[in-house]
Amino acid sequence: MKNESIAFIGLGAMGLPMARNLVKNGFAVTGYDLNPQALEALVQAGGKRAASAREAAADAGLVITMLPTAAHIRAALEGPEGALQSLSEASLLINMSTILPHETEGIAAVLAARGLRMLDSPVGRSAMEAERGTLLILASGAAADKARAEEALLCMGNQIIDCGEVGGGSRVKVINNFMGISLNALTAEALTLAEACGLSVELALQVMRGTIAGQGHMNITYPNKVLRGDLSAGFQVDLAHKDLGLALELASRSRACVPMGSAAYQSYTAARAQGRGGQDYSAIYPLMRSLAGLPEALPYTVDTPVNADPFGKSAAR
Ligand code: NAD
Repeated sequence: MKNESIAFIGLGAMGLPMARNLVKNGFAVTGYDLNPQALEALVQAGGKRAASAREAAADAGLVITMLPTAAHIRAALEGPEGALQSLSEASLLINMSTILPHETEGIAAVLAARGLRMLDSPVGRSAMEAERGTLLILASGAAADKARAEEALLCMGNQIIDCGEVGGGSRVKVINNFMGISLNALTAEALTLAEACGLSVELALQVMRGTIAGQGHMNITYPNKVLRGDLSAGFQVDLAHKDLGLALELASRSRACVPMGSAAYQSYTAARAQGRGGQDYSAIYPLMRSLAGLPEALPYTVDTPVNADPFGKSAAR
């Protein structure tokens, strides 16, 4: 059995498999959840059941929360049966739920006022990776707290990214989900448009998996164009605006609703209004930065081409 005992509060779709992986790796885990079936599942896996968050946290070195929202975390921490009643200066609270950075900082401040420590450590990926112990852990907080938590974190994930001070993990997690969730909506629009205009979805998938549409701008366009400070047109903003207009016309004729695509069209219109019509279509990025009042110079640049020939001969085989 490992030295550190763990309280795990919130045994849902994510928390239960994460807690099970801690048990599997030799940690003593005491769980608490409002749902008795979730607690029973932890007991079946070799963990212990607590009757309250306070009871779970008593004598625990690490107290992990994996709850839906900041309000749920506060409910589990506060009140006569809350974990704050039994947290001590020797314990470390690790919040792994997805919440806003200012909510994370607020909870950290409540703890700090009592001399208690917190690690902000949300996770990337999904319930499948939670089962497999291959989550992406976004750890932020004091270096000593990250070092202390590392062994337990690596039972739940296979990669830890250091996200700086408390609040950093929450920030990058919310932004990561902003992109993943928005792309999900755009993917649904594209496949629906394909079907509505008479294509097989299989064909649409085959084509789009082989182009930038399915392969992603962060891996290909950005590191090879805009992030290198190169806005010379590989594909002009004017042509991107024209092609997106064609797609909106096709959607209209096919009676497919494409709200994400329609919003993107406005951004290309704005880029042209800023005189960027002849630039590479990745100039949408400096457009957005200028609208946010950010300085003209890029804060990060890539020196050498990345994955410069993603669709080259060997990729096609
Ligand atoms: P879930 O709804 O499946 O589980 C939440 C659990 O918390 C439930 O079992 C519920 O009974 C319990 N709970 C609620 N209030 C409680 C309280 N006061 N005390 C004790 N238990 C309480 O949610 P989930 O999918 O496991 O997500 C948890 C967090 O992880 C969320 O913040 C979510 O955004 C984040 N997340 C989810 C995924 C995913 O793919 N599901 C991926 C990454 C991050």
